Amino acid sequence: MSEKGKKESPEQIEFREYCREWLSKNTPGDPPVRLPQMAIEITTQAEMDYLVPWQKAAWEAGLCGADYPKAYGGGGRTGCQLIANEEMQRVGTPYFPNVIALGMAAPTILHHGSEELKKRFIPKILSCEEIWCQGFSEPDAGSDLASVQTFAERAGDNWVINGQKIWTSLATFSSWMIILCRTDRSVKHKGLTYFIVPIESYIGKGIEVRPLIKITGETGFNEVFLTDLEIPDKYRLDDVGNGWSVAMTTLIHERGAGPMVTPSAGGRRADDAPGNAMDLIDLARQSERNGRPAAEDPVIRDRMIELIIRQKGFRQSIRRVRVKGLVDNPMRIGLQGKLLFTEIAQEVSALALEIEGAASTLFMNDENAPNKGQWPLMYLNSYGMTIAAGTSEVLRNILGERVLGMPKTK
Ligand SMILES: Cc1cc2nc3c(=O)[nH]c(=O)nc-3n(C[C@H](O)[C@H](O)[C@H](O)COP(=O)(O)OP(=O)(O)OC[C@H]3O[C@@H](n4cnc5c(N)ncnc54)[C@H](O)[C@@H]3O)c2cc1C
Repeated sequence: MSEKGKKESPEQIEFREYCREWLSKNTPGDPPVRLPQMAIEITTQAEMDYLVPWQKAAWEAGLCGADYPKAYGGGGRTGCQLIANEEMQRVGTPYFPNVIALGMAAPTILHHGSEELKKRFIPKILSCEEIWCQGFSEPDAGSDLASVQTFAERAGDNWVINGQKIWTSLATFSSWMIILCRTDRSVKHKGLTYFIVPIESYIGKGIEVRPLIKITGETGFNEVFLTDLEIPDKYRLDDVGNGWSVAMTTLIHERGAGPMVTPSAGGRRADDAPGNAMDLIDLARQSERNGRPAAEDPVIRDRMIELIIRQKGFRQSIRRVRVKGLVDNPMRIGLQGKLLFTEIAQEVSALALEIEGAASTLFMNDENAPNKGQWPLMYLNSYGMTIAAGTSEVLRNILGERVLGMPKTK
């Protein structure tokens, strides 16, 4: 047994001690620039220059990629990534910048890639030498992902790709993209094939990346146009026509329900950010409401406590994922986690704006904004989080139909 009564193997206990020791000496200092709230919103080279060396250092120390096989640059351990994540979150390290690669590309290549691809790509993902983006969504294919129209046509040993992707996070920094393409228009799911695409070397020669501006005024995601982009067949993952099943491996990891635990350093704060309900207490102490600290208002107190209890209950529920055999379907907790985490975060930030009152109209860069304007930013961002990686409605459908076995929606 180790901390919080978790049963851990001797290897895990030793690894936790090692992580603590390493983190006590190697946590990076404060960033020289204001970091965005989430890694998918990184927009400047200065942010990358601070974050990339941090991920590389964590990888070299074995905290990023702990459970990946040694042959692919990992630590070759069992059940240790979660421990590294917990320890990094406990001390409030910055997040890793290569989130799409760590959370989606690496596990997909591990499960569906050839030996050559695994050896070529996974080490550089873990070390952050190559950044990746995900080309799934299109203007007419989001929730209905199997409708993608970007077409890959066979040309001897190569494929020629034409089409448009949208909402592609981190595309401006990416060397590589995982992409879902149509290879047969006569069938829907069976007409899809999954590739990896070297986008950086084709910018201006078949790839165009156009940043999109979000409601926050920041960018982060992009449109990506692919015109006669030719790639070799060795960049195909799995069989022609089997792209849907490969995409399911990506999505199940993206939604936190896959077998590979994603290396995740969390955020600056010691508890899960963003949307930590405990932070409301300090905010309420500092904010005035009807001439008194908002923390003395009984209605505000009730609502804060309700959210704190729900968030703590949610985190306890998610811990069940560690108990082998307790949960029948891995999607049950992973999908609940994504759904509840993002919805509670949205409620927490909405209450923060109420607590701030008129001051909540002051945004970032306004020197009078409480908490440097982070709460209004979090509130606006929270809508994207209930959409990305599957909207709340779609996740409820999947939980209802595929986990609870309820009848399919029409
Ligand atoms: C911050 C952010 C980052 C993103 N990053 C990426 C990325 O890197 N790569 C990438 O490929 N994509 C990315 N996306 C896109 C994301 O995956 C899609 O936005 C999402 O899948 C929804 O698709 P859509 O926007 O086309 O909305 P739609 O699918 O058009 O949905 C519109 C509305 O209809 C509802 N709806 C749709 N179908 C159903 C249904 N069957 N039942 C009930 N309600 C339904 C939805 O819930 C939603 O409210 C990102 C999105 C965001 C917000």
